[in-house]
Amino acid sequence: MKIYNTLSKKKEEFVPIEEGKVRMYVCGPTVYNYIHIGNARPMIVFDTVRRYLEFIGYDVNYVSNFTDVDDKIIKKAIEEGSTAEEVSKRYIAECKKDMADMNVMPATTHPLATEEIGGMIQMISTLIEKGYAYVVSDGTVYYRTRKFADYGKLSHKNLDDLEAGHRSIKVVGDEKEDDFDFVLWKPKKDGEPYWLYFPLTRFVLGKQKRGGEPYWESPWCDGRPGWHIECSVMAKHYLGDEIDIHAGGEDLIFPHHENEIAQSEAANGVEFSKYWMHNGFLNIDNKKMSKSLGNFFTVREIGEKYDLQVLRFFMLQAHYRSPLNFSAELMEAAKNGLERIRTAASNLQFLADHAEAEAFLDGEEAKLAEAKNYVDKFKAAMEDDFNTADAISSIFELVKYANQNADGSSSKAYVQALLDELKTLCDVLGIIVETKEEMLDSDIEAMIEERQQARKNRDFARADAIRDKLLAKGIVLEDTREGVKWKKA
Ligand code: AMP
Ligand code: ZN
Repeated sequence: MKIYNTLSKKKEEFVPIEEGKVRMYVCGPTVYNYIHIGNARPMIVFDTVRRYLEFIGYDVNYVSNFTDVDDKIIKKAIEEGSTAEEVSKRYIAECKKDMADMNVMPATTHPLATEEIGGMIQMISTLIEKGYAYVVSDGTVYYRTRKFADYGKLSHKNLDDLEAGHRSIKVVGDEKEDDFDFVLWKPKKDGEPYWLYFPLTRFVLGKQKRGGEPYWESPWCDGRPGWHIECSVMAKHYLGDEIDIHAGGEDLIFPHHENEIAQSEAANGVEFSKYWMHNGFLNIDNKKMSKSLGNFFTVREIGEKYDLQVLRFFMLQAHYRSPLNFSAELMEAAKNGLERIRTAASNLQFLADHAEAEAFLDGEEAKLAEAKNYVDKFKAAMEDDFNTADAISSIFELVKYANQNADGSSSKAYVQALLDELKTLCDVLGIIVETKEEMLDSDIEAMIEERQQARKNRDFARADAIRDKLLAKGIVLEDTREGVKWKKA
């Protein structure tokens, strides 16, 4: 299997660090609003990468964070008169709902930056000890970029070239040694208004102030981490020092991922990630999506007009590295394409339910073997740097073949096998061909009971996994004083 690696700018044969296993980290969204359809692109394409890796037998440890401490979250909290924690909690829940509607599988772990501060303090301390970071008088800690000899290896930039075409980014009062040094830890802003202080949760959540900025104690100052250190630490915590695939949108190559490499490799002393994958940007009517241009859509808004499976199908019709243009006409075309596949699947289901012959009839096994060619074509497309556009073309070919080669006289075994092939391929892409089965209330209640038991046994990982599984089926749990309540989202 070949993966295009941003590091080498080439398609490379994929060889995992540990046989049969893949450690994968995908940079997740900053949670201060509903996610937009641009954010949905990495979620959908890398979920599809994961699904394919699992399909061919890998055990994938898939980690995707939520950035829940950030200026934009704090700004929103100030506007609302709430806390950063309230804002981020709310939009994490909304994001998980959108992910479920797009059939994006929950990650193995979704770490929150605010719960990993201890690890960040540790990594920053290591960087200081090794001479890769320094503290200035107000307690800000900077990374000493020029000390990391490989800086620029991912973005293929050279610091001296960058400097030539570059205005000074130093601001007054800045004590940086060099323009390219970036923040690892920064002090909280001055002014000590009203603190909402929970002693017990202090080390987990930080001290939260209404309408203000969360902060944590550190050896350097009360403050909070820079954005880049968060991902280095969360990847290390859940996947180890060396990972197979690190992914995100192409805007993250520089400086975010370049800085992650500088931090992780200097602190851990080993190569951070073997393969770096980046998705191209999504534009609207050939323009950059932006609030000021009035062409900004949240996933929720698109979900009001379309089944979000259509959005997923639309995204996968392009190669993940190509820029993708979103427009009403292209969404209509995607809707029709998906409908063609769904109709073929429901026709096959009808034929299977009404077939007279159970077992294969003469010649059907040969026909099935022919249909398998499309499955091979699908796999070949996916093995070539996850070319989902070509993979979908082979699904259409299979649909055409099934429409022409199965009818009321076919055996159940044959049409069922065709249907299974079609469903398997769609499932690898996360495309649901049948209308969603509603969960029975009794099943939901049984799962809630199991979750309560897990909590009693202090098996919180299991309890969370059950909650996420229900969420993926559109069931939202609410823990109230009277017990656990559930509703369909
Ligand atoms: P952010 O919340 O801005 O950190 O973005 C979360 C993820 O969405 C990152 O991987 C970004 O690269 C990606 N992303 C943001 N905007 C777009 C876009 N218009 N097209 C594709 N990916 C995007
Ligand atoms: Zn990141």
